[in-house]
Amino acid sequence: MEERPLRVAIMGLGGYGTRVAEAMQACKRARLVGVVSGTPSKIKAWQAKYNIPDKNCYNYETFDNIKDNPDIDVVYVITPNALHHDHVIRAAKAGKHVICEKPMALNAKEGQEMVDACEQAKVKLLVGYRMHFEPKTLEVVRLRKKNAFGKILFFQGLSGFEIGDPNQWRLNKELAGGGSLMDIGIYAINGARYMVGEEPIWVTAQETKTDKQKFKEGVDETIQFQMGFPSGALASCLSTYSMNNLDRFFLNGEEGFAELQPSTGYGPIEGRTHLGPLNQAHKTHQTIQMDEMAGIIMNGNKPVVPVDGAEGLRDLRIIDAIYRACQSGQKVSV
Ligand code: NAD
Repeated sequence: MEERPLRVAIMGLGGYGTRVAEAMQACKRARLVGVVSGTPSKIKAWQAKYNIPDKNCYNYETFDNIKDNPDIDVVYVITPNALHHDHVIRAAKAGKHVICEKPMALNAKEGQEMVDACEQAKVKLLVGYRMHFEPKTLEVVRLRKKNAFGKILFFQGLSGFEIGDPNQWRLNKELAGGGSLMDIGIYAINGARYMVGEEPIWVTAQETKTDKQKFKEGVDETIQFQMGFPSGALASCLSTYSMNNLDRFFLNGEEGFAELQPSTGYGPIEGRTHLGPLNQAHKTHQTIQMDEMAGIIMNGNKPVVPVDGAEGLRDLRIIDAIYRACQSGQKVSV
């Protein structure tokens, strides 16, 4: 283990950036040392709260100078979806490792460019897939790998919530890149992959819109989608911005099952399998995530479920395919 912690600058001091910063206070291997923000008052408040020196504070104009700052190892991009592409590539060009929030980008083309830029700059690109470190989730993955459920036949992923303020960036196609699928449906896509343990080869999808005012062209309200896996396993998923209490995974195999509900919220995650309840202790997701990511970046540790750019790209390819399937009404190969 390296002696010093991973030194992190958070870019985008909004709702989720705030949550990550607070959770990082309990980290053993990662430390918040810098910020990137367009709002001077936020920078001041964060400096006071987290003891961040002036030399580690940037705005979006001065950000590229971070290349000359040897006291920051990684930039954690927590800005609206459409900005991830530019922000990640700039951080990579500045020679910094990057953690990028989900969805990694607006589409697979952008995602590929980000992966390429990080490879070229020889920096690591990780995606903020916090569930990949969550103890009950990992127990289900462990059980599935040791064949405790037998041959996997079916996965159901229900991911949604009722979205409020119609003027927020999440409902703006330019900034969000889509609607519920980009924001919350991605959990069902990503979850299907780590629960089933395979990559889908086709998707079908159907979109329903009840409110065209709130959910404008290109901003999906509700999408149901299905995925087929090479083994013959099937997934049936729902992504929505119009229903609450919708956070559930169900995995079915020939010899058993697992269910998680809630499955991807901030926790505690609850669940059981045919063997009994899942009792792994809850830990703040973002605290474990950042400690584990420190191990990945500093020591080359390999997580049980990948969190690298290639992993983010796989989800983006599926998102692209789901949107194409909604448009065409056809089965789309991934
Ligand atoms: P937010 O609106 O609360 O914060 C976004 C921040 O980006 C704000 O501080 C805003 O000022 C800043 N920003 C910079 N440039 C901007 C611009 N041009 N337009 C608008 N805002 C701009 O949003 P959030 O909930 O923190 O989401 C940020 C990212 O984090 C999204 O990609 C989202 O999907 C992701 N997220 C992930 C999780 C998770 O559990 N992994 C949870 C919430 C959000």
